[in-house]
Amino acid sequence: MITVLDSIKLSTEYLEKKGVESPRLNAELLLADILNCKRLDLYLKYDQPLSEDEINKYREYISRRAKREPLQYIIGKVDFFGLELKINKSVLIPRPETEILVETIINREKDKNSLLILDIGTGSGNIAIALAKSLSQSKIVAVDISNEALKVAEENVNKHNVINQIELVRKNILEDTNFYNLKFDIIVSNPPYVSINEYQSLQEEIILYEPQIAVTDNDDGLKFYRKISEIADKNLKTGGRIYLEIGAGRSEQIENILTTTGFSNIQFVKDYQQINRIVYGIKI
Ligand code: GLN
Repeated sequence: MITVLDSIKLSTEYLEKKGVESPRLNAELLLADILNCKRLDLYLKYDQPLSEDEINKYREYISRRAKREPLQYIIGKVDFFGLELKINKSVLIPRPETEILVETIINREKDKNSLLILDIGTGSGNIAIALAKSLSQSKIVAVDISNEALKVAEENVNKHNVINQIELVRKNILEDTNFYNLKFDIIVSNPPYVSINEYQSLQEEIILYEPQIAVTDNDDGLKFYRKISEIADKNLKTGGRIYLEIGAGRSEQIENILTTTGFSNIQFVKDYQQINRIVYGIKI
């Protein structure tokens, strides 16, 4: 018989030996998912024996995590801005930094009515859905290059009942920046901003499992900011706002791109590590 506590201890040791960061936390979260309980509830079940099915599933999960597969892909979900989103390896795992992007928009836009918003590179739909929930009068066009990602986004849109507010569109903005005569109030994006050089030094979890096209532009890390500016130039209203997540140390270059496109009042918001992570500005 193997108990909850025994299995957590063994798994923690194994993950630690394999060099996984925060091994105990990972071991606990994976088991909590299998037992369908909160991590903290595990403490009440320490002496409970695991069934054979539970043990087998736990073994599989731990071995995947030891091979560096991100926990969020193993359990297939993530919490973003208080919403549970389904994810798989076709989409970038939504990050806490991106919650700051959403929060910035909501704080600044909550008193405005019927906003038309463009979300570029929607991935799991995280930004679009969080905005739709908080800005209930808004309509959002959410585009992505990947059909597989759009399937995930669609599932999440349905799950959170925001079908009436969000339109999902397949589009490769590097080749097609035509948004017809739509005039948006807001453009938001968390584009692939890692340069090809920086990409090599990212964690194995990212390089081996997250979609490369969601992480790097395979270039200088600025390609999408130039493209998004082009779109803003044509399809953002005068007085419209842009909100973007940016890479560490890129504020100055991105401020230049935005100024050249005709943005003013450009400001930055720092992330939890005091790095400029969000930029926003107004089109003049
Ligand atoms: N919009 C998604 C996110 O912010 C996906 C972004 C991306 O794939 N670069 O997490």
